[in-house]
Amino acid sequence: MDQLEINILTPEKDDLRRIENLARSTGDINGLSPVDIDVLAVAIGAGGDIATDDHRVQNVAESAGITWVPVIGKGISEKWNWIRKCKGCGRIWPNEPDIASDECSDCGSKIRLVRK
Ligand SMILES: [Zn+2]
Repeated sequence: MDQLEINILTPEKDDLRRIENLARSTGDINGLSPVDIDVLAVAIGAGGDIATDDHRVQNVAESAGITWVPVIGKGISEKWNWIRKCKGCGRIWPNEPDIASDECSDCGSKIRLVRK
């Protein structure tokens, strides 16, 4: 999984507005910090994933169609609750961290993390 390098990316104004509108509609806007909104806006703009344990960030990410993963679950393979599934052909890919590509080599669609 490619983690987003949020420290080197700046969100676009349009993406910021999209996230703010979404957060307003989900009711999460008041609980989000400006940094949270930046991270979400960068993720929606760049198509990256978010690693977060913040429920509000998760909720807005969900509404925005952004893939997110819990931080505390990272690196604990026995407790993995997520599977990597191709959006196109539905093939399940292993969760090995050395698989860097998010693209399905069978059909070329994007591989997403989905809850088991
Ligand atoms: Zn596929």
